[in-house]
Amino acid sequence: MTESIASAAEVQGCLTKMAIAPGQGGEPARYTLRAGEQHLVLNERLGRSLTLTWTGAIACTHCGRATKKSFAQGYCYPCFKKLAQCDTCIMKPETCHFYEGTCREPEWAERHCFQPHVVYLANASGLKVGITRGSQVPTRWLDQGAVQALPVFEVDTRQQSGFVEMLFKEQVSDRTNWRAMLKGDTVEMDLPAERDRLLARLESGLANLRERFGHDAIRLLDAPPVTLDYPVLEYPTKVVSHNLDKTPEIGGTLLGLKGQYLILDSGVINLRKYTGYEVKVAA
Ligand SMILES: [Zn+2]
Repeated sequence: MTESIASAAEVQGCLTKMAIAPGQGGEPARYTLRAGEQHLVLNERLGRSLTLTWTGAIACTHCGRATKKSFAQGYCYPCFKKLAQCDTCIMKPETCHFYEGTCREPEWAERHCFQPHVVYLANASGLKVGITRGSQVPTRWLDQGAVQALPVFEVDTRQQSGFVEMLFKEQVSDRTNWRAMLKGDTVEMDLPAERDRLLARLESGLANLRERFGHDAIRLLDAPPVTLDYPVLEYPTKVVSHNLDKTPEIGGTLLGLKGQYLILDSGVINLRKYTGYEVKVAA
């Protein structure tokens, strides 16, 4: 008789964020845990036991050097201080200081910040605004556990996306309530209607930005809303989170995958937070 359930597996290596691919043909998103060179497809592990053990080692996700502590989700301290991707302007793009000549890595910025960015509305735990590099759609939404998303504007640079996001933030949050997201009690929204409602309020702010950056710099998109579906057998009613720094070995039955979280019957864990941690995963 053929065994349809995947056989036991063990992988070991330093964690990078899970690869999440949108589901095809009505299937939920497909999750792959990545530990060093080793990969483990998690969808087929649902409903089964999974153990994750931190060996105590952390390697910088950029330079590979051993570090006692992880900074900015996966970097050693020297990289954290030196890399443009760890600078505060990445989180607050409106504070971009490239033109002052103080960018930490101008060449990196050319490749990452001076590329088309998308300003979107999403529903992960309610309506929120966000920005991402055009090439990161829909990965960014899946990483956040959004169940709906709608691209609204395309702009030329990360800084411009920051200015547009600032306008939206006067009306709508840019945060996800991760506990609510993990409980799965999100109410379906009419994102195109929300967009139209917000655009009417932001008209003069947008006109000012277009005057500053050029009319074609901030382009209204006519993209359809996207629905995203996650492999979850059962949502937790109470969200308890695991912490590898305090408890290096965690385990339980894998009940679901949403955003960068594993949902176990014993608690949830945000794997992205442990980027660079060397772990052993038995499933
Ligand atoms: Zn480093």
